[in-house]
Amino acid sequence: MGNGLRIELARVYGFCPGVRRAVEMIEDHLAREGRVATLGAIVHNARVVETLSEKGATVARSLEEVEGPAVAITAHGAGREVYAEIERRGLKLVDTTCPIVKRAQEAARALAQEGYTVLIYGEEAHPEVRGILSWTEGKGHATMSPDDIPELTSKKLAIVSQTTKDQKAFWEFVREVIARLHSHIKDLRVVDTTCPETGRRYRAALELAERVQAIFVVGSRNSANTRKLAETCERTGVPTYFIEDARELRPEWVRDLSCVGVTAGASTPDELVEEVVARLRELGGEGG
Ligand code: SF4
Repeated sequence: MGNGLRIELARVYGFCPGVRRAVEMIEDHLAREGRVATLGAIVHNARVVETLSEKGATVARSLEEVEGPAVAITAHGAGREVYAEIERRGLKLVDTTCPIVKRAQEAARALAQEGYTVLIYGEEAHPEVRGILSWTEGKGHATMSPDDIPELTSKKLAIVSQTTKDQKAFWEFVREVIARLHSHIKDLRVVDTTCPETGRRYRAALELAERVQAIFVVGSRNSANTRKLAETCERTGVPTYFIEDARELRPEWVRDLSCVGVTAGASTPDELVEEVVARLRELGGEGG
């Protein structure tokens, strides 16, 4: 018998299509050909890494650590020198670069070749941004601030975005750059390479926050996107619990509540969410 605790799932949560595709590609490879080393974790989630490792996937920090025969590039993509080095080493490549990231890389490469200085709205240290930068062959610059734009050597400027950046923030950045540089540039190209998936999870979490008394955000603490999702929920004022799995869920958190919500970051597999819902049902919840 339930105590009237309703469980509501966010309209959109968990794996984005790019991450789902990457995990499936690795699983397919493991089933067909066995062993593969991924260049960095395929997704920032311990459960996924563990499950894949049981099937023969290892995580390598660099190509030097890869013994072969196969290596996988993650959904974040990689720079052109990584592809060249994989070929030089004679490794078989499983390229799980998300098609949306690929599009950003290709836009940056083509624009640089056409003589544009390519400004990437994003964090320079992020692997995806490092990859996109590399495709510009020295003609790119990554920044999050319009105060940090290099001196332009040509009058042609292009702007693209790290895929996970907020679309509105990207266009504000573009507006700010135009306001500052319009007298220096004659030719401006803007390619909106933001991915709609991250925003969809935030919006769904905000909608959920309007309907529930507490929210459980499921995902790894080392996942930046899950952390940001949890922060988004916290800002609504609804009590938010960031948990890695069902074992962390404490019964007192749901005592006397009639409706709780569950969401998960883009790197969280469905099974972890299902386990949290199952735990809530044990505690008297219904639905989900
Ligand atoms: S968040 Fe978007 S760009 Fe990034 S892997 Fe997922 S689908 Fe691809």
